[in-house]
Formats: sequence, structure tokens, C-alpha cells
Amino acid sequence: MEFVVAIDGPAGSGKGTITKLVGERLGFINIDTGAMFRCVTLDIIKKGIKLEEENKIKEMLEKIQIDLKENGEVFLNGEEVSKTIRENEVNNLISQVSMMQIVREKLLELQRKMAQGKNVIMEGRDIGTVVFPNADVKIYLDASPEERAKRRLKQNQEKGISSSYEEVLESIQKRDQKDTTRKIAPLKKAQDAIYIDSSNRTIEEVTKEIIRVIKKKEG
Ligand code: C5P
Repeated sequence: MEFVVAIDGPAGSGKGTITKLVGERLGFINIDTGAMFRCVTLDIIKKGIKLEEENKIKEMLEKIQIDLKENGEVFLNGEEVSKTIRENEVNNLISQVSMMQIVREKLLELQRKMAQGKNVIMEGRDIGTVVFPNADVKIYLDASPEERAKRRLKQNQEKGISSSYEEVLESIQKRDQKDTTRKIAPLKKAQDAIYIDSSNRTIEEVTKEIIRVIKKKEG
């Protein structure tokens, strides 16, 4: 049996936290595709590759090992990078990296493989539109940019990443602009996705609503 729940939405919409909770409560495997794009970006930075050097990126993608652990830890080529992938250096480059066709093709292949024969809840930007256009349940999670920046700032503080509200808001808005306007797999609501605005709702309320939708679909 394979049951796929696709959760798409912009940075700070609550996707990460809610996907994790829904996954834990329903016993679904939780896949954070943003972490995968972050790993590719970090690998490019670490290897000092320029974005124009497509051949080098291709070679790097052939060897890349991305490991998403059940406890949320992320490993890149055997090294724990859970915190490093959330640093500003990665945030500033990631939209350009995720625009690249070779990167998207490679991650699309990995993401589909990870879900094979399993019950998964996968979060990202193009899960309901491109990765799993036939997903059993599709959710588009949104919130105002100001609310999203507040949440991201709090998460950063908890993770020991230093940043100001203004910095986070600007970075989120720039990323939104690039993610929604890129040619390949832009961030957008799938026609058949359920739209949820989490701005004035608690994590628990949204989590419960999504669980209700999944249970109804499972019958
Ligand atoms: O979800 P998160 O904020 O970690 O995603 C980081 C970036 O990775 C996004 O801003 C976007 O550029 C890219 N991304 C993507 N497609 C996905 C997931 C993330 O392009 N499915």
C-alpha cells in the first residue's frame, strides 16, 4: 500500500512542524524535501562549485548521499548537517540552486523512490503539482509573510542561529518571489489541494484538521 500526503507552501507556513506531528501520529514517514535542496546547496558551497559549472554539479549529484533520519537529523555524505543547512549562507543561494533543472530532476527521482510502497507525508513546494500529482491528499499551507518571519525567527533562536526579524522577513520575501516565479516547478497551489491559512490558528488546530482530512480519505 502506498498512501501519499503532499504538503506544499512557503517558508514558515508551519509545514515542517505540522508534517512531523501528522507523520508521528499516523505512523507515516515524514519527508522534508526542503532539507534535500538544502543539502545540495551546501554540497555546492563546500566543494566551491560555481553555479555556471553544470558539469561539476552533475558529477556532484551523481555521488551525493542524503540521509533524512526519523528523528529529523540530516546527513550529507555521512556528515551531520542538520544545523548547517539552515544557515544564511545556504538560505542566500538555495533559490538559485533549486531553479536548476539537473538538481530538480535528481531530487524528483530520489523523492519518488523514498515513497515507494510506503505511507508518506512529504512537504515542499512542488509535491502536489509535480512530484506526486496523484497524491491521495494535497494540502497548501499558507500564512502572512510577517507571521512566517516571526515563526522562523523563533525557530532560528531555538536552534542557536543568530538573525534579526528584518533579516528573516527580507530573506523569506526574496525566497517567496523566486520560488513562485521560477520556470520549473514553481511554488503554487495544486488545483485540487485544500488551502489552509495558518496565520491565526494554532499548530494543534491545523494538525488535527489535516489528520481529519487524511482519515476521511483513507475511509
Ligand atoms: O522548506 P524549506 O524552506 O527548507 O525550503 C528551502 C528552499 O528549497 C525553498 O525556498 C525552495 O527554493 C527549495 N525547495 C524547492 N522545492 C521543494 C522544497 C524546497 O524548490 N520541494
